[in-house]
Amino acid sequence: MKSFETTAIALLSSGLDSAVSMAFALDKGIHIKSAITFNYGQRAAIQEIQHAKAISDHFGIPHGVMPLPWFSQFESKGLLSKKDPLAHPSLKTLSDSGAVLKSAAQVWVPNRNGVFLEVAASIAENQKVDTILVGFNAEEAATFPDNSIAYIEAINKALALSTSNHVRVESPTMEMNKTEIVALGMTLNFPFSLLWSCYEEGEVMCGSCESCMRLKRALVNKEKSLDGLFINTILN
Ligand SMILES: [Zn+2]
Repeated sequence: MKSFETTAIALLSSGLDSAVSMAFALDKGIHIKSAITFNYGQRAAIQEIQHAKAISDHFGIPHGVMPLPWFSQFESKGLLSKKDPLAHPSLKTLSDSGAVLKSAAQVWVPNRNGVFLEVAASIAENQKVDTILVGFNAEEAATFPDNSIAYIEAINKALALSTSNHVRVESPTMEMNKTEIVALGMTLNFPFSLLWSCYEEGEVMCGSCESCMRLKRALVNKEKSLDGLFINTILN
């Protein structure tokens, strides 16, 4: 990633990967003009927006919310429904590729990352910004192809044709697993208590959905305290 001459907008979901990616880019001297959180009717939208705003405030970055209300016209299930129960996997299940594919299908939202990146590219070009920062990671790229290095390379080729200033998508964490991203966050003194990684809504992260389990496992691997972050702090 270039530094100092680069200006970026950061896509900030309030989860570990996007937040640490933003902190890393700031540390490298990238000028981040704004952080954007999408509201596409996900069940934890309110929490994600509140936590993304808190993270942005911590780093002194203007935060905006981009509504994508038409997603709510889709058949309401998984992340787009508050009634449809989500998988709450065991630690062992996270290593079972068949089970992980099944739970990935449950939280899949049609072309979500594709929409996010194209909308962000339009905003970036309008603001004369050349980079979109995202928090992809190797751990989830195994099940979500729209989280992979191959996808970043592919969309960058498309954006070179569809934006006049050749906007590029960059993810400092794309080759890391979550434990490595926690380690990176620790070197940057990242405020982990500001994260919201949970698929569910609530006062505190549930500690048992797949996203919570992946964050908990990474924090435990780096001996970070789970106290206060999750309802369920047991990792098994
Ligand atoms: Zn959760």
